[in-house]
Amino acid sequence: MGLGSNLDNPIEQIKKALQALKLLPNTHLKTQSALYRSKPLGSQNQPDYINAVAMLATKLSPLVLLEHLQVIENEQGRVRGAERWGPRTLDLDMLLYDNLQLQQTRLILPHPGLYERAFVLYPLYDCSPDLILPNGQAVSVLMRGFDGLEKVSTEP
Ligand code: AMP
Repeated sequence: MGLGSNLDNPIEQIKKALQALKLLPNTHLKTQSALYRSKPLGSQNQPDYINAVAMLATKLSPLVLLEHLQVIENEQGRVRGAERWGPRTLDLDMLLYDNLQLQQTRLILPHPGLYERAFVLYPLYDCSPDLILPNGQAVSVLMRGFDGLEKVSTEP
């Protein structure tokens, strides 16, 4: 699972999302990465992101898991301010589900950004240094193509 946030205290958003993942039914959070700071994709006119990766063992099917992720995003992802729907503060991406390869409207696996984003590859390596992706590439090799990422201190 890839986690990202750049609004409304991103470090707390990621920590809270990790807690929510731990509470999913029939699911166990196996490993979580360090937290990283990354530059936003697209417009630079927005705050840096905080990213992390978590590995889950789950009995939920991919689509049911996706529904749960979207509930967590919705619960956490909205700032309740004057505006009815404030900006989204949490992005949860299903990066991989075993070695499954899927091309559905609602779910693409592996996540298309997985191979090209340092903020996914570095934390993924933390969780599983020997991981081989479904296309046969090793995460440890792929990540060498990208500059390092700044780890974030999570001490209070
Ligand atoms: P985003 O706004 O970037 O979070 O994209 C959310 C949309 O991407 C949702 O409607 C999902 O159905 C779709 N989606 C496709 N593949 C994935 C994936 N591997 N993980 C999360 N969302 C996905």
